[in-house]
Formats: sequence, C-alpha cells, structure tokens
Amino acid sequence: MDKPTDEDCCHSDCRNCIFDVYEKHKHQHIRDIFESGENALSLIQYRPFILVRIDGDSLHTNVYTFIPEGKGIGVYYNPGQHAVLKHVISSDTRNNNDESSSETRLNLSRAYTLIPWDHGDHPGSFSVVVKLYDGGKMSSVIRQWALGDICFWRGPYNGAGSWTYQPNRVKSIIMICMGTGIAPMFALARSITENEDDETCVRILYASRTPGEIVLRKHVRELCKFWNVACTHFLSEGFNEADKKFDEIFVRGRIRAENIAEVYRQTGNLEALVCGSDEFNASMKDALLSIGVTEEEIIIFS
Ligand SMILES: Cc1cc2nc3c(=O)[nH]c(=O)nc-3n(C[C@H](O)[C@H](O)[C@H](O)COP(=O)(O)OP(=O)(O)OC[C@H]3O[C@@H](n4cnc5c(N)ncnc54)[C@H](O)[C@@H]3O)c2cc1C
Repeated sequence: MDKPTDEDCCHSDCRNCIFDVYEKHKHQHIRDIFESGENALSLIQYRPFILVRIDGDSLHTNVYTFIPEGKGIGVYYNPGQHAVLKHVISSDTRNNNDESSSETRLNLSRAYTLIPWDHGDHPGSFSVVVKLYDGGKMSSVIRQWALGDICFWRGPYNGAGSWTYQPNRVKSIIMICMGTGIAPMFALARSITENEDDETCVRILYASRTPGEIVLRKHVRELCKFWNVACTHFLSEGFNEADKKFDEIFVRGRIRAENIAEVYRQTGNLEALVCGSDEFNASMKDALLSIGVTEEEIIIFS
C-alpha cells in the first residue's frame, strides 16, 4: 500500500480514515516482514549500511541515519531494541630488521538503541542517537564519519531480557532514565502514541546534567503533546527559568524515591522501565522497591 497523500483523505473525520488504515497496514506489514526474516539487519551477521543523514541533537549528541547498502530490503525492529556497531581498526607495524610489515586488526563494537526518526527521503532506514565522549574509542571513530560512509551493524536485539512491550497490559508505565537512556524510552513512548488503540499512560522521569544536555529534547516535547504522555526533567546542575521551552517541567536535582512515589500514587497498576548507567539503574531499582513496586514490575534496560 502506497503512503496516502492529502488528496486521498476526505477530511470528514470518518472512522476508516485512509491515514489510520495506512498506519495499521504498515505496522502489520512490518510485523510480517520482521517475522519472515526479510530484514536488512541481521542478528548473526554484521551487514553494511550507508550513513545518509547526520542531525545535531543536544550538546554532546547527534542522530545518525543509515540505509542498507543493498536496495529493496527494509529495516525492521521493535521499539526499545538495540543494534551493535562494529569498527575494525587496522594498523601497519613495520619490522625494522627485515623491512617487512605486519597488519594488526582490532575489532571495536558498541551497542546503540534504534530510534524512530523522520526519515524524509530515506524510508527503510534506521537511526541512532549517539553521545560522543571525549576520549571514547567508538566516539573518536564516529566523530570522523561523513555522509556516504559504510558502517557495519548487527541486530536487532532486546535490551531488557525477555520483556517486550504489550499495549494495554498495564494502565501506566513509568520510564526512569538518564542521558542517552532516553533512547529506548522514546522509541517505546512513540510507538504507544502511534497506536490509537493503546491507552497506556506514560510518565517519564528524565535525569540530565543541564538543559543543553537533554537528549532528544524537541522530540520528547512533541510526545508530551499527547494526552497520555508527560515528562519531568531532573537537572542535577540546575537551570534558569529562561532555559525552559513551552510546557517543559523542570525540577532541580536528581530523581529521588519521593519523586517516583508521587507518580506511583497517581498511577497504580504499572510497569517501571529503567535505563541509565549501572549505578543509576541500581539506585532507581532500590528507590522503586522502597516505595512498594515489586521486583516483577521493574524492567531494567542494560
Ligand atoms: C544496550 C546498550 C544500548 C546503548 N545505547 C546507546 C545509545 O543509544 N546511545 C549512546 O550514545 N550510547 C549507547 N550505549 C553506550 C555505547 O554502547 C557506548 O558505551 C558509548 O557510546 C561509549 O563508547 P566509546 O567507545 O565512545 O567510549 P569508551 O572508549 O568505551 O569509554 C570512554 C570513556 O567514556 C566513559 N563512558 C563510556 N560509556 C559511558 C556511559 N554510557 N556513561 C557514562 N560514561 C561513559 C567511560 O567512563 C570512559 O572513560 C548503549 C550501551 C548499551 C549496552
């Protein structure tokens, strides 16, 4: 089914709107292909993808978009899944005695979360949001990327064990994350808003150091326009009122058990998803357990 244009819609708010039918059909089609294995991404093999877009995001992050090197095959994954990037560093070592040289190859691989993006002219693509660390090995490689570069990816896979999202399984989901830990939360929240039959409420508690370091900030703000999504930003290094954009909710300091308890009181039947550093995940898990959330209701992304 081709994507409908504005002229295909009767604009009378009918029950079977062509755009809704298209979205449903598209998701089913994606599921079918995902299950039939016709996916450009492979879990067992690193495959080549072309870097086709680089979008600036926050102070230290960019969003990178790739298309498969071969034509006519799509990229399919479930929200919240990751892929692994591989880079081979080879260096020539010259042997001074006999003037021969030998090549040393070092494989570097790092996981990144697949995120939904406005792919514009590049359907059948995937995107990742990457934080570039000073002195980071893969960060140094990524800093050198230019459009048209070929990169090797393997995936998709789940970061939260056997947990998979099921629409309407619980009334609410609390997403507790820091830094690029927003990536799987964003992917999941976006899929919830795209499914009009899904009435799950999403409450995001998101920790960053400063407003400039909030990852996917504009896109999280867009999500919060939906009736069932809200986000509170916790800023450990503070902020000025002038830093807030539109209806953003800013709180000074780190996420504490009482902040989670407040959301928990309003929601009840829930799942709590956590994604950050190991230390962050452990302390958020302790906080959740201390306010009565059970071990089964806590899902850690790592
Ligand atoms: C399942 C999974 C999903 C991930 N998804 C993403 C993603 O969507 N976007 C993204 O940017 N990263 C993501 N990561 C982290 C990513 O895989 C790399 O660890 C990160 O890009 C750093 O790699 P590097 O080689 O540049 O740094 P390294 O050479 O490994 O480390 C260099 C320095 O950076 C610091 N550092 C490295 N990683 C972190 C970190 N996570 N937090 C704080 N300090 C750190 C270390 O202290 C170290 O001193 C994910 C990791 C996992 C396991």
